[in-house]
Amino acid sequence: MSPLWHGSAQEKRTAGFGGVPGKKLARIVVKFGGTSVASVERIRQAARHVKREVDAGHEVIVVVSAMSGKTNELVGWVNEASPMHDAREYDAVVASGEQVTAGLMAIVLSEMGIQSRSFSGWQVPIRTDGAHGAARITEIDPTELNKRLEDGWVPVITGFQGISPNGRVTTLGRGGSDTSAVAVAAAVKADRCDIYTDVDGVYTTDPRIVPKAQRLTRISFEEMLEMASLGAKVLMIRSVEMAMAYKVPLLVRSSFDDPDAPQVAPDGTPGVPGTLVCDEDEIVEKQIVSGVTLAKAEAKITLRDVKDNPGVAAAIFGTLADQGIIVDMIVQNIADDGATTDITFTVPDSEYDKAVKTLQNAGDRIEYARLSGSKGGAKVSVVGVGMRSHAGVASSMFKALADKGINIQLITTSEIKTSVLIDEQYAELAVRALHTYYGLDKKDA
Ligand code: ADP
Ligand code: ASP
Ligand code: MG
Repeated sequence: MSPLWHGSAQEKRTAGFGGVPGKKLARIVVKFGGTSVASVERIRQAARHVKREVDAGHEVIVVVSAMSGKTNELVGWVNEASPMHDAREYDAVVASGEQVTAGLMAIVLSEMGIQSRSFSGWQVPIRTDGAHGAARITEIDPTELNKRLEDGWVPVITGFQGISPNGRVTTLGRGGSDTSAVAVAAAVKADRCDIYTDVDGVYTTDPRIVPKAQRLTRISFEEMLEMASLGAKVLMIRSVEMAMAYKVPLLVRSSFDDPDAPQVAPDGTPGVPGTLVCDEDEIVEKQIVSGVTLAKAEAKITLRDVKDNPGVAAAIFGTLADQGIIVDMIVQNIADDGATTDITFTVPDSEYDKAVKTLQNAGDRIEYARLSGSKGGAKVSVVGVGMRSHAGVASSMFKALADKGINIQLITTSEIKTSVLIDEQYAELAVRALHTYYGLDKKDA
C-alpha cells in the first residue's frame, strides 16, 4: 500500500501540544455521520463532543458527512437530470452535501470559542485516483493540517471526497466519510479515530433488526471487515481495511450521548465509551461467533450446461468484470459427464438486468444451454474468529435455519465466516434465529 503521508512532517508532533506539562495528550480524528449532523441543532450537539476533547487538551480534526438524506437527494437529482450522466458531474453534485456541513460545523465551533476552519477534500489536499464515484485515496498531504493543529485550530474536513490526478473533485462511494476519517487519521498519525454515529457501538447484529443485539466492547479488524463486507453498514469496508493496514484504532460511538457526561468505558471503568475495533491479540475473550449480518437485494443467476473447458470461469467472470459488475457468491458444480457443468453466482439486484444482458450478448465466448435467475435474495452470515479453531459452526447454522423451515439456496465459507443465500422474505427471521442460537441475545431483553 502506498504511503498516505509525507514521512518527515509526522515527526514534528510531540512538541507544540500546549496544555499541562507531563500530561499525555492525544491527537484524535472525529467523524460525524449523516444523522449526527442532520440539522444545525444536531451539529451543535456534535460540536459539544469536539469541545469536550479540546477542553481536555487534545488535538482534534473533524470529518463530516452530509446531513442524512442529503446525498440520496443529490443522487436523485443527478439521475433525474440524466440517467446517462458523466461521472465527473455526478461527483461535482454529490460532493456538495459535505461542504454545507463542514462550513456549518466550523461556524458552530467558532461560536463556542474554538478556532476552526473548514476544508474541502481538494483543499487539504486528499488525493485520489480518477475512478469517479468510487475513488480510492492515494495520498494525503498533512502539512496544512499539522500546522493548524500546532497553532491550536480545529480543522473540519468534508468526508467522502478528494481530488483526482486531473484536478477534478472525486467521491469515494457511499458511506465514504468513514474512509476519509481513517485516511486523515493515518496521515496525521492520530492516536485514535472516533466514528460518531446513531448507535453507541458495533453490535452483534443490526440493533434495528434484532432489539436483543448486544454491543461489543471490542471487535477485531478482521471480524469487522467481514461484518462490513457482509452487510453491517456501520463502517464502510474500505475504512476498516485502511485502519487495519495503518494500525489506526477505531472507536465507534454515539453522538447522541450527552457530551458532558463522564466518559465511561463499556466495562464501567473511566475511559471511552463505544466499541473499539482493534488487533485480534488485544481481545482476551474470543467468541466463536461474534456477529450475524444481513445483506438484502441479492440476485442469483444460474448458467446451465456450461461447456466445461479450462478458462470458462475466467470468460464468464471476466466479461462481467469488464462491465464493472461485482460478483459475490460463486458455486460451480462438478461436471458429472466431464463435458458440461452448472455455475451459479450472485450480483446485487440493481446489477441483475445488466448482468443478464451482458451474458446473453457474450455470444460464443461463453457456451451454455440455459440462463435462469431471480432477484430478491438475502445473504445471511455468521462471523467469528473462533471459527478457526471450532468445527461445526456451518452445520449448526444449517440446522438452526432448517428448524425454522428456511431453505438454503447457496453457501459460501471463509476461515471466519459462513454465508447462506435465502429468500428475502425470511431474512429477518433467519437473523433473529441465528442470533438466539449462538447465544448472542442480550440477557435482560
Ligand atoms: P452514519 O450516517 O453515522 O455513517 P450509518 O447509517 O452509515 O451511520 O451506520 C449506522 C447504522 O448501521 C446503524 O443505525 C445501524 O442500523 C446499522 N448497523 C448495521 N449493522 C450494525 C451493527 N452490527 N452494529 C451497529 N450498527 C449496525
Ligand atoms: N454522504 C455520503 C453518503 O451518504 C458519505 C457518508 O455519509 O459517509 O454516502
Ligand atoms: Mg455510514
